[in-house]
Amino acid sequence: MEYSQATMNLETPINQLKGVGPAFLKRLERLGIRTIKDLFFHFPYRYEDFSDVRPITELSAQQSFCVQGKILAIKTTRTWKKKMFLTEAVVEDKSGAIKAVWFNQPYLTKNLGKGDFIFLVGKVSRGKQGLYLSNPVYEKKLDDKALTHTARIVPIYPETAGISSRWLRYTLQSLLRQFKNNIPEVLPADILKENNFPQRDQALWQIHFPNSLKEAQQAKERFSFEQLFLIELAVLREKLKLNKEKAPAIPINVDVIKRFVDSLSFKLTDAQRKCAWQILKDLEKKRPMSRLLEGDVGSGKTVVAVIPALNAVKAGYQVVFMTPTEILAKQHFREVAKLLAPFKIKVALLTGKEDKVTSQKIIHETRDGLKPEVLEISRRKLLEKTKQGEIAIIVGTHSLIQDKVKFPEQGQGLALCIIDEQHRFGVEQRTKLIKRKGQSSREIPHLLSMTATPIPRTLALTIYGDLDFALLDEMPTGRKKIITKIALPKERDKAYQFIRDQVVLGNQAFVICPRIEASKKKDREKKSSWDEVKAVKEEYEKLSNNIFPDLRLAMVHGKMKTKERNKVMLDFKNKKIDVLVATSVVEVGVDIPGATVMVIEGAERFGLAQLHQFRGRIGRSNQQAYCFLFTDSNSQKTHQRLRAIIKAEDGFQLAQKDLEIRGPGSLYGLKQWGIPDLAMKNLGNLPLVEKTREKAKELLREDSSLKDFPLLKKELAGISKSLHLE
Ligand code: ADP
Ligand code: MG
Repeated sequence: MEYSQATMNLETPINQLKGVGPAFLKRLERLGIRTIKDLFFHFPYRYEDFSDVRPITELSAQQSFCVQGKILAIKTTRTWKKKMFLTEAVVEDKSGAIKAVWFNQPYLTKNLGKGDFIFLVGKVSRGKQGLYLSNPVYEKKLDDKALTHTARIVPIYPETAGISSRWLRYTLQSLLRQFKNNIPEVLPADILKENNFPQRDQALWQIHFPNSLKEAQQAKERFSFEQLFLIELAVLREKLKLNKEKAPAIPINVDVIKRFVDSLSFKLTDAQRKCAWQILKDLEKKRPMSRLLEGDVGSGKTVVAVIPALNAVKAGYQVVFMTPTEILAKQHFREVAKLLAPFKIKVALLTGKEDKVTSQKIIHETRDGLKPEVLEISRRKLLEKTKQGEIAIIVGTHSLIQDKVKFPEQGQGLALCIIDEQHRFGVEQRTKLIKRKGQSSREIPHLLSMTATPIPRTLALTIYGDLDFALLDEMPTGRKKIITKIALPKERDKAYQFIRDQVVLGNQAFVICPRIEASKKKDREKKSSWDEVKAVKEEYEKLSNNIFPDLRLAMVHGKMKTKERNKVMLDFKNKKIDVLVATSVVEVGVDIPGATVMVIEGAERFGLAQLHQFRGRIGRSNQQAYCFLFTDSNSQKTHQRLRAIIKAEDGFQLAQKDLEIRGPGSLYGLKQWGIPDLAMKNLGNLPLVEKTREKAKELLREDSSLKDFPLLKKELAGISKSLHLE
């Protein structure tokens, strides 16, 4: 592969490489590779060391070796059933000769011929006529070229169908050669020096084609540092940017808040009071708040958010309340409207895509201060009323940040954005939301994000370092602790009988299965165990035909249409279904107060925090709830891990445990956050996290605009984008 260097840079799309057509493009895309840079940063996940080239006579069966030699003979034949091509070659070195055998690679004889000098790597087997190499990796030795696949430390990459490590090695080696001295360094010189890191282009060579495992390790350390450092910088810069902005200072109206708290049908927990107060104090300041409210499922976050919302509205401002899904938007709309019914506040719901003008739009207005009346109005009217400042609180999905939604230019305007289960919402987006005109110094809204995902403190500081935190660490009283048990396969019948008994009492049950079908990647990694996975469909068939033929069963999974899924969930909520068989889609969803039992199949396959989230779907009423964790595993480690969930009081402990045992990748939701692989692996590495943060702070103190580090700045733009900071 030869390319014209003049026209290529790191950002060049991968399809501009010769030989990368639409089919390859698609496969590469699956690996997340779109540009040459992505390819360079597709790192090996392990290496095989074949640098030791052995004399042929020293080989022994059942082990892998690398040998070199001359081809004495080579031929391809068809096997007797004519079903298979068989290529056989005899290769000789100074010590002796050995046969190499390949199946179904007839083109080999086109590449290799008698007299060629080759390297072979493969497993030695014993046949009738002695030892032979079966299906070895081969490589011709050309005079001037270094070896790529043999007689060295060979990188093994994450692959996908049609993209082999061999292809990646070949392409990478040729490309890296062409980019020699043309890969800009992004790390400041003193950081390189201090840590003894190799230069970026050198490090890329070292990570892909190391001369020793030590070289590979050195490069890995450099890139781990680099990726975390970039994340820290991006997050800290976002914070600096925010500090320069102004937000409306909203005075605390103690009277109104008191009235609101008195109007509630329950008593707020101390944690709720504390968090609400923290937020109110933030909003009093001219500095924009960026706060993440963390609290377990059912800890009562909504009402905490409604308090500052009400306070802002009473001071004459608008509030938006954004949710990730339509179901949640509707649920929040109802909830907020109900909570604020005594205050004669206009709450609106905006859902659907921009082009679906017929989608539901409901505006609701309190008349008698008790029962909210809900009126349907057109989208156009709703947008108009929002722009005129007539609507106090507007609830909706992401469609809220579309250009069409405008808030008043004059008057108080939008002061607070509340976001449920969506943590990233940068300064840019906030600015966009209020449509700042020209250079005028209009204020930007405060931000309150909410999440039920327990994020360990170390992690939170790294990826959400631009946010402050508030923790709801107390559950409303009256909730009973869910009784959780680890169940062995032989206890299955008992569990089913238990479900039956509960259904007779008028209660409902969940059965959670690990996945719809074995995913490709996992399949490759642990084939045998995935064969046993209870596919949700199979489980549903089994339960409805054999176990509970007389009960009402249904299933939900991610491959269903949203509409169908919503219908099933609604039926379940309305007690038209007794047992719901589901995949992890139930993690985020509607409340099912009637569900008192949950069976989790293949429990060992889930992270602890995730199991905790599942479990949070039950036990939401005053009835005692039960959770059975089924596992076929006899591993002591698995049982120990599962026992942690029986003991744990809250999701944070579990998340921290998960982080320690399974690594950051296991944390629910972390995969979507666009964190590069190495950084992900190192998120649990506290010393490195702290070091990179310190260095990032230091650099920003000296040069907050990074004017002396243009390449670093450019690199940051990419990171900020993938972290959704911009
Ligand atoms: P989450 O934190 O999961 O968003 P919600 O805000 O949906 O939780 O609250 C869950 C349920 O608990 C709601 O029905 C809500 O009315 C109720 N709730 C909230 N706070 C309290 C409290 N202090 N005491 C009793 N029930 C409460
Ligand atoms: Mg909630």
